[in-house]
Amino acid sequence: MNEYDSNRILDLVKPMGYTTTDIASDADCYVLNTCHIREKATDKVYHDIGRLKKEFRNKKKPMVLVTGCVAQAENEEMLKRENYIDGVVGPQSYHKIPSIIEKIEISKSKLNSTDFEVIEKFDNLNSIKNSNSKISSFLTIQEGCDKFCHFCVVPYTRGPEYSRPLGDIIAEAKQLIANGVKEITLLGQNVNAYQTKNQSTTHRLSDLIFKLNDLEELKRIRYTTSHPVDVTKDLIEAHRDCDKLMPVLHLPVQSGSSKVLKAMNRKHSIEEYFKIITDLKEVKPDIKFSSDFIVGYPSETEDDFQKTLELIEKISFINSYSFIYSPRPGTPASELVCIDKDITKKRLIKLQNLLENINMQSKKNFLNQTTEVLFENKMKDQKKYFGRDRFLNSVVVESKKDLTGQLLNVRIDNFNHNSLFGKIFIKEKKIMQLNKCQR
Ligand code: SF4
Repeated sequence: MNEYDSNRILDLVKPMGYTTTDIASDADCYVLNTCHIREKATDKVYHDIGRLKKEFRNKKKPMVLVTGCVAQAENEEMLKRENYIDGVVGPQSYHKIPSIIEKIEISKSKLNSTDFEVIEKFDNLNSIKNSNSKISSFLTIQEGCDKFCHFCVVPYTRGPEYSRPLGDIIAEAKQLIANGVKEITLLGQNVNAYQTKNQSTTHRLSDLIFKLNDLEELKRIRYTTSHPVDVTKDLIEAHRDCDKLMPVLHLPVQSGSSKVLKAMNRKHSIEEYFKIITDLKEVKPDIKFSSDFIVGYPSETEDDFQKTLELIEKISFINSYSFIYSPRPGTPASELVCIDKDITKKRLIKLQNLLENINMQSKKNFLNQTTEVLFENKMKDQKKYFGRDRFLNSVVVESKKDLTGQLLNVRIDNFNHNSLFGKIFIKEKKIMQLNKCQR
């Protein structure tokens, strides 16, 4: 979501004459768009500001804005602690950045903009064209979360659930497609909680997917991140009926133990999670799943951990994320007693080894098979092209022809733990000779 937000911030400031630079010391305005999910996110911000100060030691100081979830969580405190920061802007207020820049320039004072103004934000953004032209692009459709998992800061930093009107999303998707975008990943902290009411009609994520599926130039649709309790029947039907919806779903489970899920306030049991997986496999037999895992949540026993390993083996998750539990200030779980660090480290290694074995086996299964790849860009060495297959695997192919934006079959002849490698596979045309019978 930060990638989407950063691109939209650029769209907002372009009319003011700003453009991006890869050389930080050239910047007139430095925007640090932050994420609060990982541990020590706040420390990283101050570290980055320290680095910036050194770069500008002999130059005029740039305007420095800290945006995103760390800005939301820390707000006024950041301005007090670090004089080098000129403004803090929460994730629901970044539409105001042009006016914030002007105000800081005129008044030379510090600014804090951390209200939850999500409706105003999207109303504002709708009037500004999305200029993103990457072959695979993100599109935010929903923000915020009402689930309040006990370990998570999102409900406090992004605010309550909000869904953008369906028509606005389709209009933005059409802009992206006109820019050359071929794949759209619909984004939301709780993307499948998407729901809007238009007079008597309710629109859900499935309605949006069906509408996007009809847009001819769009080749692929994905969505992330989902919560199991919002995987509804209509969404499962979208997986059955929408050919452009890719057969891989990131469905975080966090733990394989219903007891731990209850302690986390995840609102579902392992049996319910497994039923969703079964239902999806029934309508889409080739579908694969990825997940997030928290290892060593307070009160997790060896038995709970074993259940997580068993679940991983049972579902064969691909491309998953795993972390040792670390408390986030202000969350209910931050008040619980953490379990021994050595135990959690050992558990994490065990879990990651299992995920890696499954990952390697899954990649090995592609050997000598063809897989459909959407090519996204030329790689730095200028000889190879990078793309992704339907299951989100990275695929690398050498080619003299420009493959960017093409959807092609690739025959896989090698792999490593990150990527599949292969050659473009063109099916030989079978030629039939018809000898007309001369009478
Ligand atoms: S559902 Fe996701 S975003 Fe919401 S509180 Fe839980 S982990 Fe955080």
